[in-house]
Amino acid sequence: MSLLVMKFGGTSVADLARIRNAAGKVLREVEAGHRVIVVVSAMAGRTNELVGWVNEVSALSDAREYDAVVSSGENVTAGLMALTLQEMQVEARSWQGWQVPLETTSAHGAARILAIPRERIDARFAAGMQVAVIAGFQGISPEGRITTLGRGGSDTSAVAFAAAFGAERCDIYTDVDGVYTTDPRITGKARKLDRISYEEMLELASLGAKVLQTRSVELAMRYRVRLQVLSSFGDAPGTLVCDEEDIMESRIISGIAHSRDEAKVTLLSVEDRPGIAAAIFGPLGEAGVNVDMIVQNISEEGRTDMTFSCPVDQVTRAEKALRAAAAEGGLAFANVVTDTDVAKISVVGIGMRSHAGVAARMFRALADEGINIKVITTSEIKISVLVDRKYMELAVQTLHDAFELDKAG
Ligand code: ADP
Ligand code: ASP
Ligand code: MG
Repeated sequence: MSLLVMKFGGTSVADLARIRNAAGKVLREVEAGHRVIVVVSAMAGRTNELVGWVNEVSALSDAREYDAVVSSGENVTAGLMALTLQEMQVEARSWQGWQVPLETTSAHGAARILAIPRERIDARFAAGMQVAVIAGFQGISPEGRITTLGRGGSDTSAVAFAAAFGAERCDIYTDVDGVYTTDPRITGKARKLDRISYEEMLELASLGAKVLQTRSVELAMRYRVRLQVLSSFGDAPGTLVCDEEDIMESRIISGIAHSRDEAKVTLLSVEDRPGIAAAIFGPLGEAGVNVDMIVQNISEEGRTDMTFSCPVDQVTRAEKALRAAAAEGGLAFANVVTDTDVAKISVVGIGMRSHAGVAARMFRALADEGINIKVITTSEIKISVLVDRKYMELAVQTLHDAFELDKAG
């Protein structure tokens, strides 16, 4: 019997009526003869509320208790979804992460999935269960404590179940009807893509397009999961995330991603000698700072400036680590300057591999709007720039027009 994974995000299960709507979609697949693993998120807004409570009680919260609290939203939805399906005469049962068990590392708040043993769920399917409703976003550590997979982690739960159970498809139901050329909230000209390659989706996700959690795309790519993003509020076909070879449309740029909460840190007048980069980025790594872009200026009289970007909420930690390294004598610089009002805009497309001039077109378009570029990085299929945050929307709209993404390729 074929098996499908269907994941419903927060807005798709925001209240009882929406849970019923989602359950209706599951019922349709059951009636078509499929077994279904449903993965649910917490009801819209619930996880934010839980995170808020934790922060209010304890700003430097114990990560194990953070997970104990924030994982609970999914438990409620899973139970309600199972009950709703039962009311529709479907044999459904809810499963919390530990009951499966979805085994993870003990990196609380950002745990990685280690394994999903199939035995318990397979046994229940064999005994007549039609639908397993899984609480997304959560698992259990080797120490036996509840873990969570990072914000947006239910996508990753869904893809991991699809891989573990060899599902025919993994459908991610959300509040948009697919993956768009850019976040449709930023421009009405954003166009839905019928297909996007795993590689491009991976870049877009990791550069800020939150429609799929980055790790879910990584897993889908590795295990060749047929991943589809579609709306739970209609029957429109969605976007298939697939191999490059399966895309007919020829386009240079597929999408534009933005990331609002970035910061730029500059170390002024750093002594320029072998090992200096290691002396800076070693302590930052140890402090858990996720450094993204890095630029080193040309050196004058043995001194240079070093600039890097990181998430804005890690700036204080970064500054502290750098000052501590300086105090210990491993690093010498004149000052640290931080800019916490920047955003990152990235254009992504596999067509860049074979087309020159993409960067020039991007920089020209931004210049024509008077948007100053602060830092640039590139890779084979993406170009990212850091700009003042107040220009973020304008930059995305400008680039969307410049690359004519509203038109099909
Ligand atoms: P869910 O709660 O279903 O997991 P999310 O809020 O995590 O939903 O993700 C869906 C949102 O992602 C959309 O509402 C949209 O604003 C945003 N988004 C960002 N970039 C894109 C994109 N390129 N295509 C579609 N949606 C995008
Ligand atoms: N509820 C979790 C979050 O809001 C996980 C998810 O929705 O994917 O981050
Ligand atoms: Mg999400």
